[in-house]
Amino acid sequence: MTLSNEQKKNWLKFLGLDIAPISDAPTSWFNMAKKTSNDSSAEKKPSVQPLIDERKIKKQPLLNPQKQYSTAKQLAEKSNTLEELKKSLENFEGCSLKKTASNTVFGDGNPKADLMLIGEAPGADEDLQGLPFVGMSGQLLSKALSHIGLSSREHYYITNMIPWRPPGNRQPSSTELEACLPFVKKHIELVNPKIIAFVGGTAAKTLLNTTQGLNKLRSQTTYYSFYNKKVRAFPLYHPAYLLRSPSKKEILWNDLLTLRELLDTLK
Ligand code: URA
Repeated sequence: MTLSNEQKKNWLKFLGLDIAPISDAPTSWFNMAKKTSNDSSAEKKPSVQPLIDERKIKKQPLLNPQKQYSTAKQLAEKSNTLEELKKSLENFEGCSLKKTASNTVFGDGNPKADLMLIGEAPGADEDLQGLPFVGMSGQLLSKALSHIGLSSREHYYITNMIPWRPPGNRQPSSTELEACLPFVKKHIELVNPKIIAFVGGTAAKTLLNTTQGLNKLRSQTTYYSFYNKKVRAFPLYHPAYLLRSPSKKEILWNDLLTLRELLDTLK
């Protein structure tokens, strides 16, 4: 079978060989690219939906961190119950994470419990269900807590520093943490726990206003102050870290035993 010149051209084009790599005359690739882009008959690029619509991003006003913080503070301070605080948080537009999240993950468990746990931010499962610590790391945490008799959420209250999932489960930025901080502080005041457990370094460092790492913090007796009250604070390894470093589970186990002893002294 012999191919016509047109068929040959199409076949070479299909193989990607329609442009001779070596020829007698020099080729100006720059001019060729210009010609192709100006050529109305040139094959149109397939339209691919961009992941992010840049025009929308440009249109959004830039958030001013100081203004965000003071708006959050005002909204949090006028909330006198957990329900009001949840509503205030849902009305707060000062944290851009809200725009990409499916749900506001407020808190779960028993607000009358002695123990309040505070994690970092929701992951994918939490974002879908609207509840904190329900994904893989949450299940590990629940299992660990059940070993010290805290077998259901009736035994504790649990929330996060940030109520909206950071895209791709990245760590929340310091601006995002700062913007949500007044809500967390009010959350603690309204729950009024006797003991606080910081689940992971982000909660511990932000609420204790320190740059010390979790290892250092968990090796010393730590307190968190609110109103004119001082309660024992327990920095714990984050379960997501333990999923990556299972050998550290023993450390969490020892910390939980100490936490159990402390809870027993409250009875
Ligand atoms: N990690 C957290 O810090 N919080 C959650 O709710 C889930 C995972």
